[in-house]
Amino acid sequence: MTFDTRKSEFQQIDHSFFKERNIECYIKRDDLIHSEVSGNKWRKLKYNIQQAATLKKECILTFGGAYSNHLIATASACKKLNIKSIGVVRGEELTHLSNPVLERCHELGMQLNFVTRSEYDLRAEKEYWEELTLKFPSSYIIPEGGANYFGMIGCQEIWKEISTEIDHLFVAQGTSTTSCGLLLGAKKAQIHVVPTLKGYQSIDEMRRLLTYATIESDLIDELLDSVVIHDEYHFGGYAKSTVELENFIIQIKNEMNIPLDLVYTAKAFYAMMEEIKKGGYENQTVLFLHTGGYHSN
Ligand SMILES: *Cc1c(COP(=O)(O)O)cnc(C)c1O
Repeated sequence: MTFDTRKSEFQQIDHSFFKERNIECYIKRDDLIHSEVSGNKWRKLKYNIQQAATLKKECILTFGGAYSNHLIATASACKKLNIKSIGVVRGEELTHLSNPVLERCHELGMQLNFVTRSEYDLRAEKEYWEELTLKFPSSYIIPEGGANYFGMIGCQEIWKEISTEIDHLFVAQGTSTTSCGLLLGAKKAQIHVVPTLKGYQSIDEMRRLLTYATIESDLIDELLDSVVIHDEYHFGGYAKSTVELENFIIQIKNEMNIPLDLVYTAKAFYAMMEEIKKGGYENQTVLFLHTGGYHSN
C-alpha cells in the first residue's frame, strides 16, 4: 500500500505537566508515517495522486520554494508510484545542486523548472495553469503545499484512526490544508491552529479553502466557530527561531521523548503547553497532531 498510515501511532503523553491538571494528552505521530514524505504531506498527496490516475494524467506538477517539504514529498511519492513529477521552483538562479532538498528532488527524478519570483507569484492563477498545461501536457497540477480539496480530504481521514473522544486538537498551520481537513472531520473537538507565518490571516485562508469542500457559507461559518487561533507563537516568522525554542525542543525530547522540528511542530507544541498553563483545559482530552517535518535528533 502506497499511502499506508499505519505507522502513525496514537500515543498518550505520560507527563506530570498534564497529570497535574488532570488532562489526558495524546499525540498522533504522523511524523512516523514515512522517513521522507513528512507526515501531513503524505495525507495531502493521497487523493491528489489518485485523482491524477483517474484523469489518466502522466505527470504531477507542483510548486515550491527552495526548501519545500512538499516538493520532496511529491518527488518521493511519484518515484514510488512510477509517475513523472515536475517541480516549479521559486528562484531562477537556482540549480538542482543548490541545496540538499533540490538535490534530493532531482535524484528522485523530479524535473525541476526554476522560475523568477514574479513568475512564481502567478502560481495560483488560472491563466498560468493553462500556460503550464500547454508547456507540460498531460500533467495534473497540485497547488503549492497540496492546498486543495483533495488535500483537505486526505487530512480529514486522520479522524478515522482515532477512537478516543477529543475535546481539543492542536495543529501547526502553513497553508491551512491540514487544519481545514481536520475541521471538516471534527465532531465536537475545538481545533486550535498555530500559524507559523507572521501576520497570517488564518480565518480568511481557512474560509477560502473550505469553499472547495462546502458550498454553503453558513456551514463554513459554523465550522469556523470551532477554530481557535493562536497567532502569537510564530517566533519571528516562518522558519525563524530563537534559543528558547531550540532549548524547548531539547527539553521535550528529553522529558517526553517526542522529536519536534523548528519550523512547525515545535511552535505548535510550545503554544499548546503555554495555553494549557493559562488554564481552562482541566479534566479534558487534548490531542497534538504531529505533522512531521525535519528534526535534527
Ligand atoms: C507542511 C507542514 C505543515 C503545514 O501544513 P498545512 O497543511 O500547509 O497547513 C505543518 N507541519 C509540518 C511538519 C509540515 O511539513
